[in-house]
Order: sequence, then structure tokens, then C-alpha cells
Amino acid sequence: MSTTPRAEERPLLILGAGVIGLTTAVRLLESPSSAGRKVHIIADHHPSDALDAKYASGIAGAHHLSFADDGDKRQRRWDMRTFRVMYDEWRRDGEASGLMGLTQTEMWVGSSKHLEIYEEHPDFKVLDPTEAPCKVDHMVSFTSLTITPALYLAGLEARVRALGGIIHRAHVSSLHDLATLPFLTLYSVLPAAVFVCVGLGARSLLGIGDGNVFPTRGQVVRVRAPWLRAGYTRQEGSLAGGEGGQRTYVIPRCTGDVILGGTREERDWDPYPRAQTGRDILNRALEICPELEPPHARACALDTAEKNLEDAWATEMGEAEERVKSLQGVVVEHLVGFRPSRLGGTRLERAEVRLAGEVVALIHNYGHGGAGWQSSWGCAEDAVAIWEGKNLPKL
Ligand SMILES: Cc1cc2nc3c(=O)[nH]c(=O)nc-3n(C[C@H](O)[C@H](O)[C@H](O)COP(=O)(O)OP(=O)(O)OC[C@H]3O[C@@H](n4cnc5c(N)ncnc54)[C@H](O)[C@@H]3O)c2cc1C
Repeated sequence: MSTTPRAEERPLLILGAGVIGLTTAVRLLESPSSAGRKVHIIADHHPSDALDAKYASGIAGAHHLSFADDGDKRQRRWDMRTFRVMYDEWRRDGEASGLMGLTQTEMWVGSSKHLEIYEEHPDFKVLDPTEAPCKVDHMVSFTSLTITPALYLAGLEARVRALGGIIHRAHVSSLHDLATLPFLTLYSVLPAAVFVCVGLGARSLLGIGDGNVFPTRGQVVRVRAPWLRAGYTRQEGSLAGGEGGQRTYVIPRCTGDVILGGTREERDWDPYPRAQTGRDILNRALEICPELEPPHARACALDTAEKNLEDAWATEMGEAEERVKSLQGVVVEHLVGFRPSRLGGTRLERAEVRLAGEVVALIHNYGHGGAGWQSSWGCAEDAVAIWEGKNLPKL
């Protein structure tokens, strides 16, 4: 085993197998600059493992619904580039890709302004807010995409392997471990670069130890509602240049499941769903999307006397409670995940570290908060461009 090979033969290493690590691996393997080099991924959690709150990519809704501020050109560029890549995949491969194209309706309470980025989506329209199912101040619709994480991640993993990437399961406690056994046996020679795509792991990984990284807990409900093929979101209060205020969302997936959310609890490490939060999510989701109720529960009684009786029951029980009850039969599970948030936003930059006396480039690509899916391809392409020494557009 040698630790001093020719520079252009040293392998490339990606830490993390979430959407960020896998998209970065695909773009790296596709790049002519990687020819002749082995690309390895090392991760604790792999896409086919059971869902885990710390593996954000598996729990996410997920939809492409940017919250990039109008002035945040960097985030807008990543989000729009990712939309284009995924939109083309959906047009080419349909729902086998794990993507679903749909009409997305976005509603605001307390604001009469939408984010400019939505105007770049196909079929953008400003709608009459009085036609919303609940009281809102502004409403727009456009074509967007939702993602079924298990399907899309499996596709990414298959692409990495087909392109010659090698995926290992291991926990890395410190960057310095990468230059020691048993890690060196995985790639034989010290990597030329390590792409740090560890999400929340960047907080505790020694050698990175980024104290700006923290979890933003999100609780969601997965329901079975294949009749629903359109997405809805309500934003209450200001986004505050990012993910502020309260968001309620209804995200249909191509599998017939629908993800209802959500919550945002900063620095809350509780991985268990809370019953009251689950009820609140169902209630809010029904307010913005009454069509969530199964068609049979929405159907009118044929007999007038029976209809009057049902109306009387609904009034007595409280209409909202009655409607939430009608969802019980379609609830599959309540889930919690930790968004890998970071003060200062996503870290996408080059640094270096000395491992066993050798300089190793570090390409950081972590801390995407609630936007990792919708910015994944844009960030992956920039990470590879940074490694290749290309200039990114000045924004
Ligand atoms: C409820 C919820 C809803 C969301 N909805 C959306 C949405 O609609 N749209 C959107 O764009 N985003 C959404 N997100 C955010 C999105 O899921 C994340 O931004 C994204 O998944 C982050 O991907 P990642 O690859 O950086 O991290 P992760 O998916 O968390 O993966 C991290 C990887 O690094 C590995 N790792 C970490 N530390 C180590 C270590 N020390 N050693 C070895 N391996 C390590 C892990 O095992 C894992 O493989 C949502 C998130 C949640 C929780």
C-alpha cells in the first residue's frame, strides 16, 4: 500500500450518501477531469436503509418549491438549475424517475407578494385569493415537481455504481482517520480530495466541527391519497429571507402517497412524532386542501333526511374535527426528520487539510437546511467546478 502515488491517480472521496453526496458523485464521475481516478463514497446511512431522522434525504417531502429571496442570486441559481435538471429527467423518464410534475398552488397569509423565482416556472399564474379554500391574501400557481425520495435516491445510487463509483458503509469520526487503517484499505492510496457532504454530520465530524450547523426538526404525516395530483402550500408570516414563518404543505408523490406538513423546530433533537402536532398538521392540511378527504367521505347522502342528520352531527362535533376524523383511514405514518440547517446558509467552498503529511483538498457541500433536494444538482455542479478550479459566475 502506497500513500505517495502520482497526483492524477489519487482517488476522490465523497463523505455522505444523501441527495447531496450522490448528486455530487454523479457529476464527478461524469466529468472528464475524473477520468483515471476512482471515486469512493463513505457513509453511515445508505438510501435503502430504514428511515432515520438524521438522514434528511429519506424523510423529506419532497417538493421543488424554492424559498430563495429575490435578492439571493446564489440560492436562486442553484434552485433553478436543479429544477431544470429534474424537469428534463421527468420529461424523459416520467414517474419511473421518482419525479411527478404537477400544478403547485402557493398561498400567503399576511403578504400580497410572491417570490420572483416562481415566475420562472412553466404556467405561472396569479390567482384570485378569494377562490382559495381558506382565507389567504395572495395566491399563485405554476408547474413544479415532487420527489419520492426512496425512488430517486435508488436511481442516483444505481447511476453512481453504473459510472464506476464505489460505495462503502462506515462512520468517520475524524478526517484524520481517513489517512489510517482501516480506511486506507478501502481506496489504497490517500485521496486527492474529500467532498464533505455529511449534512448534520458536519457538526460532530472532527476536523470540520462546524458549530454553525444545527438541526431544524420537521414532523410530517404520510397519507395514502392517490386521487390527489396537485400540490398546495400556505405560508403564514414572513419567510425572513429564508425559511421563516409557518408553512403548511400537501405534497402528492407519484406513488399515491401524500406528505402533509409541516413544522420547523430549530435545535430540537426529539426524533419521535408528537400526537398533538400530528393532529394539527392534518387540520391545517385539510384547510388548504379539502380534496384530501377521501372521495367517499366527501360524497353527499342520497337521502335528504340522512343528509340533514349528517350535517347536524358535523355541527355538534365541530366540522374541523369531523373532517380530520375522516382522514384517519388514510394515515400511514407520522415521521420526523432533521433538516441540516446552518447559520450563514449552505457551505459550498474549497479548503484543505493535511492528512499523514499530504495536502488533501476539501470541497465542502453541506448545510442545505430545508432546500437540499431543490438545490442538489446546482450545488453538485458547483462543487465539481470548484474542485476543477473553474470560476463560478460572479453574482
Ligand atoms: C421534514 C423535512 C421536509 C423536507 N422537505 C424538503 C423539500 O420539500 N424540498 C427540499 O429541497 N428539501 C427538503 N428537506 C431538506 C432536505 O431533505 C435536506 O436539505 C437534504 O436531504 C440534505 O441532504 P444531505 O445529503 O446534505 O444530508 P442527509 O440526507 O442527512 O445525508 C447525510 C449523509 O452523510 C452521512 N454522514 C454524516 N456524518 C457522517 C460521518 N461522520 N461518517 C459517515 N457518514 C456520515 C449520513 O450517513 C448520510 O449518508 C426536508 C427535510 C425534512 C427533514
